[in-house]
Amino acid sequence: MTDLAQLKEELVTANRILAHHHVVDSFGHISVRHPTIPGHFLMSRARAPGVLVEEDIMEFTLEGKIVGAEPGKPYSERFIHGAILEARPDAMCVVHNHSPNVVPFTVTGRKMRPIMHMCAPIGTDIPNWDIAHKFGYETNLLVTNMEMGRDLAKTLGHRTVSLMRGHGSVVVGRSIRETVFTSIYMEANAEMLIKALQMGEVEYMHDGEVAANTRGRAGFTWERGWENWCREVSRKYVAQTWDMGPGFSKTDPAG
Ligand SMILES: [Zn+2]
Repeated sequence: MTDLAQLKEELVTANRILAHHHVVDSFGHISVRHPTIPGHFLMSRARAPGVLVEEDIMEFTLEGKIVGAEPGKPYSERFIHGAILEARPDAMCVVHNHSPNVVPFTVTGRKMRPIMHMCAPIGTDIPNWDIAHKFGYETNLLVTNMEMGRDLAKTLGHRTVSLMRGHGSVVVGRSIRETVFTSIYMEANAEMLIKALQMGEVEYMHDGEVAANTRGRAGFTWERGWENWCREVSRKYVAQTWDMGPGFSKTDPAG
């Protein structure tokens, strides 16, 4: 199997996992940068993440133009992915979702911060992009062109996550597995945080604690999640050998 075919298979698996964990439902999407053409990315045609298959994967330029096969209509919000991959050469993968426990944080001014160690990758400084700031109050809130996508990418900056007012969020990462991990734990964090806020004053993770968790988190942790999530959605698990690099723990800091 070629690298490209393997990547497409992994992208389908990621779609299934995100749907299973209610990060996406019939809507929301995940993209991955093309492995050999950095100015292109791969993403499904406009289809629900829980049902799409390898044949639905399309190739796009960062500006959202279709390259090659066109198995169907593309997602109208593909510009989110192209604009972020354009602005962030370090990013290999983008998840856009409307995950239900995250949305309340986009419309209330309540800050989204990690409250549990597994959720540390979302970071402590999470902006909330408001489409109306540049495009007014007559849009349908969807990111349907490059100008909107680039404005969102500007708000995201160097961070891992940005909320989107009245809409959802974007999550970026260095691999599909890392980005799926962060997306699942952002939704989990939001759900726990909503409960905690009802109980009283919340002590969020402190900056140093978030930094220590992020620093120590290795590919081993993502693999542990990925293997289990593949089982949950009946997809084949393919082990990935991670170059952990200096500073990464060889043990599992998730405990
Ligand atoms: Zn959307």
